[in-house]
Amino acid sequence: MVNLNEYDFATLAVRAGWWDADPQTGAVAPPISQTTTYAFNKVEDMVKIFSSGEFSNRYIYTRASNPTQNILEERVAALEGGEAALAFGSGVAAIVALITLLVQSGDHIVTSNSLYAATQFYFRNILSKYGVKVTFVDATDPDNVAGALNENTKVVYMETPANPTISLVDIGAIGAIARGRKVTTIVDSTFASPYLQHPLDYEGIDVVLHSATKYIGGHTDALGGIIIGKKELMDKVRAYSLINMGGIIDPFAAWLLLRGIKTIHLRMERHCTNALAVAEFLEAHPKVERVYYPGLPSHPQHELAKRQMKGFGGMIAFELKGGVTAGTILLNNLHLCRMAASLGDTDTLIEHPASMTHNELFVTREERLSQGITDGLVRLSVGIEGVRDIIADLQQGLSIVPSN
Ligand SMILES: *Cc1c(COP(=O)(O)O)cnc(C)c1O
Repeated sequence: MVNLNEYDFATLAVRAGWWDADPQTGAVAPPISQTTTYAFNKVEDMVKIFSSGEFSNRYIYTRASNPTQNILEERVAALEGGEAALAFGSGVAAIVALITLLVQSGDHIVTSNSLYAATQFYFRNILSKYGVKVTFVDATDPDNVAGALNENTKVVYMETPANPTISLVDIGAIGAIARGRKVTTIVDSTFASPYLQHPLDYEGIDVVLHSATKYIGGHTDALGGIIIGKKELMDKVRAYSLINMGGIIDPFAAWLLLRGIKTIHLRMERHCTNALAVAEFLEAHPKVERVYYPGLPSHPQHELAKRQMKGFGGMIAFELKGGVTAGTILLNNLHLCRMAASLGDTDTLIEHPASMTHNELFVTREERLSQGITDGLVRLSVGIEGVRDIIADLQQGLSIVPSN
């Protein structure tokens, strides 16, 4: 057994979970274990696994676990510095599986009012049907989180940096608030990726969650979600939620994510330098009202970002002086930046939250505005192309926007 603690992040990104070549064939690339089920020779052996419920000890059926999924889990657990991980078919599948295990009717969740739209929808419109109460607070001030806890609180759920306003939550402060209480603290670290921050380093934080669809995969070719934490909890989520609710990742998707994650450290470095240059360009542009990027001194939480993150990431939000009209003209006139709903990709992607990812189907206008998602806010996921070309595209797009 190799001691993973001895290795650099970059080495773990390339090797963890698949350290040695295949013992039978010498294959360097991991296998895509494209099978749904696994055969046994003896009734006694199969009965033993089923009666113990220890489905992580032996492969049985791919809805419970699969070798390609397990390699991905080991790799991401190593990158996050966690004991174990559990991979799902999407980030949302991971969120639902984890929360469903942790709460029951009468329980309470404290969360931030800046969250991914589907997470908000699940908290507001689905959990409420089952008698679970959710309090949304402005979590940029940890005191608001502390003030919202009550004796029924079972989960504290945070997202940092948050989608799409790029606001931050002080992970250490949240851990300190939760420490010693019977609550499970969860941090959705998708925007940071495992490269830029490690929530599990802070006492009191129990689970890190990623939409692996974004920076972990990084190439817009596979959906996935992953949670990282104590092995005991991961085993419980597998046995309770994964097997019985069906959010498993397909072996081929797991394989694509494993391939993508090998370059995560290189991609993230480029995302960070490109995004800083783009943010500085936008901030200096006369048609831009405001830029939200944790790497800019103008970001209200710039100091926290410096403390908590190794770099400032690839996500930017900005408002144009001409509001929605100006934003529509800009988005309709970009050529290199692609208009698309995802993020964390090699390609620069741009979208308009108020009419797209955070429209009325997911959040009401009032809720959206209370979260700082104004009508004119534009979200930009800066890719790893040449930064000169990204800026030139934005420059020509902005030149078409009328001055007002
Ligand atoms: C995309 C995303 C999710 C959901 O992940 P899917 O893989 O799309 O299901 C959750 N949280 C954040 C912050 C995201 O960006």
